[in-house]
Amino acid sequence: MAYKAEYIWIDGTEPTARLRSKTKIMDGKGDLPIWGFDGSSTNQAPGKNSDCVLKPVFNCPDPVRGGADVLVMCEVLLTDMTPHPTNTRAQLRPVAEKFANQAPLFGIEQEYTFFEDGRPHGFPVGGFPAPQGFYYCGVGADEVFGRPVVERHLDLCLQAGLSLSGINAEVMPGQWEFQVGPLSPLEVSDQLWMARWLLYRVAEDFGISATLDPKPVQGDWNGAGAHTNFSTKAMRESYPPIVAACEALGTNVEEHVKHYGADIEMRLTGSHETAPYNEYSYGVSDRGASVRIPWQVEVDQKGYIEDRRPNANMDPYVVTRLITNTVCSALS
Ligand code: ADP
Ligand code: MN
Ligand code: MN
Ligand code: MN
Repeated sequence: MAYKAEYIWIDGTEPTARLRSKTKIMDGKGDLPIWGFDGSSTNQAPGKNSDCVLKPVFNCPDPVRGGADVLVMCEVLLTDMTPHPTNTRAQLRPVAEKFANQAPLFGIEQEYTFFEDGRPHGFPVGGFPAPQGFYYCGVGADEVFGRPVVERHLDLCLQAGLSLSGINAEVMPGQWEFQVGPLSPLEVSDQLWMARWLLYRVAEDFGISATLDPKPVQGDWNGAGAHTNFSTKAMRESYPPIVAACEALGTNVEEHVKHYGADIEMRLTGSHETAPYNEYSYGVSDRGASVRIPWQVEVDQKGYIEDRRPNANMDPYVVTRLITNTVCSALS
């Protein structure tokens, strides 16, 4: 029987790429084929030579449409079947393969903000709500805004088979977080992009938009990050590799921060639970450090570390590539 395949890809918008998708009707016979799109409408090709190729790399049930319908994450290729320059997944593949023997795992905390009528969901018209303090993990209509969308998003992700590990309300009204993982670099990145697509899609039905803007409101409000938790097999077994991983991340600071999401210097100011973007530090339980060793990890003398620097608008294919390369090179 015929079913719908929603082909999803990442475009060439700068400095922060966007998700695009379109529907292919499948006749029920055969595998998901490669497909094409007009790259001149997505910042991926000139009009005179506009064809780009979609190659399916990860698919899951489509929980929005239901039935036999599927969501299909794609890599973008040129017509000679080599990776398009905007295809950051292709750059992650060889790094993930090279260090697979160290079994790297990532858990990513995706923060985001709902907007409605041009202001954060829960902000009063023409003004500001009460200052931060009660919104984080709050309950009640005076503290929490957007929960029906968040609950629906969580259910859809689970129905799609994505490995979400939790959700929570964040420190600003209308700001939330979901966590994906722990998973391998490619899995966590594919699933995070898919979960982002589902977030935008489900919010549509509520007349609300979700944004990954790292600093959606200026002033005394936390920005939105994507804390990236990381471990290797060695780090999950003893403490010295935990310290070695923290030290390794301090050797390549500029290269990492430059690729941790546009406008990172607006978020990593040194206040609002961040460290300055141009100063590297790490510490146990320290939410003002670049990298935090969770207290439980110090107690257990093994586990994982949290790189707190990545912005909400980061590309997980890039961030997991940089961390895997920097830390696994040092540990090998
Ligand atoms: P926080 O206290 O920083 O808000 P969260 O509970 O939001 O922490 O997120 C913790 C993240 O750490 C989760 O995404 C989880 O999947 C991830 N995590 C747990 N164990 C590991 C591990 N061994 N390696 C990598 N990530 C891990
Ligand atoms: Mn969290
Ligand atoms: Mn958070
Ligand atoms: Mn965190």
